[in-house]
Amino acid sequence: MNFSQALAKIRENEEIRAKSTPIAMVAPELKQNTEDTEITKTCAVLGCEESKNLNSDSFFRFPEDPSFKQIWTDLTGRNNWTPTDYSYICVQHFSVDCFECDAHDAVVLNSKAVPSLKLPKHVLEVLFMNIVYKTQHSK
Ligand SMILES: [Zn+2]
Repeated sequence: MNFSQALAKIRENEEIRAKSTPIAMVAPELKQNTEDTEITKTCAVLGCEESKNLNSDSFFRFPEDPSFKQIWTDLTGRNNWTPTDYSYICVQHFSVDCFECDAHDAVVLNSKAVPSLKLPKHVLEVLFMNIVYKTQHSK
């Protein structure tokens, strides 16, 4: 095999490899929409059992914004836990004013949405203390 034949062979192999690369390796974000990940969606809020009966549309991914993400994380009631791209909070924890319609008429969370309903007891106690603290110190 001479040099140009070898080069042609390498190009051919590269073409085959490019065609056979799984979509998940090229665009990992596309894989999140496949059915098998939808089945495994669970709610990150501690003790949220009812989320098992919800369909995958009822789960919302953590916000990109770091400060919002931190608030969501605190509200799950989990200690020493960091949400991943596969962490969700279910619809039951959001009040109606957290939702809006997007351009496709789908119901989505708005950018200010934070979980406020059905939160773990110890989280609610901390929230209550913060509210009491703020109201006492804002006078
Ligand atoms: Zn939940």
